[in-house]
Amino acid sequence: MDHKYEAVIGLEVHAQLSTKTKIFCGCSTAFIKEPNVNICPICLGHPGVLPVLNKIAVEYIIKMGLAVNCRINQNSYFARKSYFYPDLPKGYQISQYELPVCEEGFITIKGKNNENKKIRLTRIHLEEDAGKLIHGSNNSSYLDANRCGIPLIEIVSEPDLRSPDEAYQYLKKIKQIVQYLGICDGNMEEGSLRCDANVSIRKSGEKKLGTKTEIKNLNSFRNVERALTWEIERQIDLVDDGYSITQETLLWNDDLQEAVSMRSKEEAHDYKYFPEPDLPPLFISEEWKKEIFDLLPELPDVKYERFINDFKIPEYDAGILTSSKPIADYYESIISYTKDYKSASNWLMVNISGYLNENKISINEFIIPAKSIGKLIDFINEGKISSKIAKDVFDFMLKNNKEPEEIIKEYNLVQLNNPDEIAVLIESILEAYPNEVMQYRTGKEKVLGFFVGKVMKESKGKANPQLVNEILKNKLNLIKHS
Ligand code: ADP
Ligand code: ZN
Ligand code: MG
Repeated sequence: MDHKYEAVIGLEVHAQLSTKTKIFCGCSTAFIKEPNVNICPICLGHPGVLPVLNKIAVEYIIKMGLAVNCRINQNSYFARKSYFYPDLPKGYQISQYELPVCEEGFITIKGKNNENKKIRLTRIHLEEDAGKLIHGSNNSSYLDANRCGIPLIEIVSEPDLRSPDEAYQYLKKIKQIVQYLGICDGNMEEGSLRCDANVSIRKSGEKKLGTKTEIKNLNSFRNVERALTWEIERQIDLVDDGYSITQETLLWNDDLQEAVSMRSKEEAHDYKYFPEPDLPPLFISEEWKKEIFDLLPELPDVKYERFINDFKIPEYDAGILTSSKPIADYYESIISYTKDYKSASNWLMVNISGYLNENKISINEFIIPAKSIGKLIDFINEGKISSKIAKDVFDFMLKNNKEPEEIIKEYNLVQLNNPDEIAVLIESILEAYPNEVMQYRTGKEKVLGFFVGKVMKESKGKANPQLVNEILKNKLNLIKHS
């Protein structure tokens, strides 16, 4: 980016809470293809019905607030946000306006120079989702109300983000936290996490905020980054050409990779917020808050630091291993069987993750128990098998449920560590390739690799490669100097 300017970004993130039932009625929140199945007079907003607040949804927002250092207000209020849209049969959405459940927290991300950077949160509030319009052919649209009344939290940041990359990291962090807490599945592509991005630019060093635009319809982490990059460039070009920025709402078009104006400030909604008359103020006692606090899981940042400090693995490894809780759990499970922390990390990041990606499955669906991976690592370190053979054993384990020692025995894979036996193998190879021996004698020492390969192949990969190397070198040097 042009160093004359600085970007200023604030995000509004909606997370769909994974409660079993909706926020104000007993309808199921389960995703179902058939439209208008999970509905009732309450979530459809029939006259005369009364909402009843879902306690689990409140518990979830308290969890989130505590996890991101917010103040949990003892009293908070619901408000009606009125607007007309066909996907909102009630004509208003129950949300929170003044005094939400959570205020003034922060989330830590890595800044430009890998330093910890705090992104302040303005608030987190509870609200209900709207339905979904399905636009059909011949100019007709259909309403699916299954989503009406599904609980959401909205997380509003202060304008503390300074680049599209920071916005990306911030979102990833939110995903990680809600997944650790088990309050939302965090899937942006499926709409469980949604983000509106507010962005402005200002001259570097300037304190005053510039006029912002808001980009909607961002349905992937990469799109948030791309849309912000695109919009920052557009704003810089305008200002450089002497124009000023107009406050407006933009819609990101994924196919065209550009944003189009949706509405300007003049057309901005007036939501006519007023206190929701059908719900009492929400009271959260100190005891309840403490109960929830005591049950919080270890959060990603803490786990990350602990992995680095206790297991002495590189920051890079710790970042990947703690990126999701099931991966971190699997890692901790492996290292309850082996003390080789770094090898455990490598196996998980390379072999196991490779297999998971290839087969598009999650670690929860992975069939090899952590114990077997731990054993495999120790077998390598004890010299029982080579690391190459270990990969074969790993492949076998993917196909059957056997323990590594069973497979090693069944296929006779124990490493050949006897120097005499290895020497015999080497002798036979040297005899078989007199030309290559001659090359070595005349100084072409590269053929050593050729011999190592042949010996390994002859031993079906079982010979201890280090011993093969050593003994081969000795023998060849003897020949050379004889
Ligand atoms: P609005 O009244 O348009 O909803 P808010 O002040 O409520 O605006 O802020 C909404 C979001 O926009 C917040 O995440 C906030 O950090 C961000 N924001 C506010 N002003 C700016 C600005 N000038 N540039 C970038 N982001 C901003
Ligand atoms: Zn309902
Ligand atoms: Mg606002």
